[in-house]
Amino acid sequence: MDRQFDVVIIGAGPAGLTAAIYATRANLSAAVVEEGAPGGKLVKTYEIENYPGIKKIAGVDLAIELMEHGLSFGAQLESGTVTAVEDDGENKIVRLADGRSLKARAVIVATGTKERELDLPEAQRFTGRGISYCAVCDGAFYRNQDVVVIGGGNSALEESLYLTSLVNKVYIVIRRDQFRAEASVVDKVLANDKIEIIYKHLPESLIIEDDKITGIMLKSVEDGSLRKVACSGIFPYIGADASTSFLDKSLLDERGYLLVNSDMSTSHPGIYGAGDVCQKDLRQVVTATNDGAIAANSVIKYLQKH
Ligand code: NAP
Repeated sequence: MDRQFDVVIIGAGPAGLTAAIYATRANLSAAVVEEGAPGGKLVKTYEIENYPGIKKIAGVDLAIELMEHGLSFGAQLESGTVTAVEDDGENKIVRLADGRSLKARAVIVATGTKERELDLPEAQRFTGRGISYCAVCDGAFYRNQDVVVIGGGNSALEESLYLTSLVNKVYIVIRRDQFRAEASVVDKVLANDKIEIIYKHLPESLIIEDDKITGIMLKSVEDGSLRKVACSGIFPYIGADASTSFLDKSLLDERGYLLVNSDMSTSHPGIYGAGDVCQKDLRQVVTATNDGAIAANSVIKYLQKH
């Protein structure tokens, strides 16, 4: 039989765990479904310097604090991948890939985003052995070696700074002559003599010798000329897409982000959104926790009415 909750929260990142705190402190029964490690993107982030009240904290440490706090008022953590959210008129039914399903009167979608993968021949085969999407997890494999980071957003630049503590040299490849990251991070990168920026280039192909990555070929966006960079590791940080494949398309914008109102409600009664998965301008831990609190508060009001 499906287990019944007042609210099922999908995703145990900062948004989902904050929603869990607010919902359970209001005496709602809540399940938090997570397919990976609780903490969301924090788990893959070296350091956080812009969460108010905490000047500096390792991403994984904040993830652990949030998880302990998020579950401390009785929310149940459920490991699983959500494949669909259905509505039987009275309840939402959250279906999981392993065949289980959870019933709830309301659902909060807080599934965040998934990093975009490098679209080059052989890239998938070398993921985990030369290509990595997590500097914090894999950086130590490239100690004293040269690595290439692709992208000019906050993730690329912050993780490049982390990598300089381990590797010999970091090449950052960006496709424009401007970064997308915050100015303070750009300044730190430009001042770091272990980092070389390669402007106006795109990845063209992997260089593979003896079944190992030994470099990457880059193509100039200006004149199409090729440039070879020798490296043993490649860290693509080229943005992310909303994790919304299990949701009805009518709830999403054209890029797949969840459309929400200011109270975090979606167009489907009883389904709410929170965090990076939503269409929004600023994706930060602090905006995710803000969304989680508002979404839970809206669920409390919705359940009082219905
Ligand atoms: P992002 O901000 O979207 O940056 C993606 C970068 O990859 C951009 O420089 C983009 O170039 C480049 N890019 C995209 N597609 C590419 C391709 N096919 N080939 C080469 N380069 C490509 O992504 P993000 O850094 O992962 O950040 C995601 C969100 O999380 C952002 O809202 C960010 O602010 C937030 N975030 C915040 C923090 C923090 O506040 N501490 C830390 C991490 C992330 P263009 O600029 O030319 O488009």
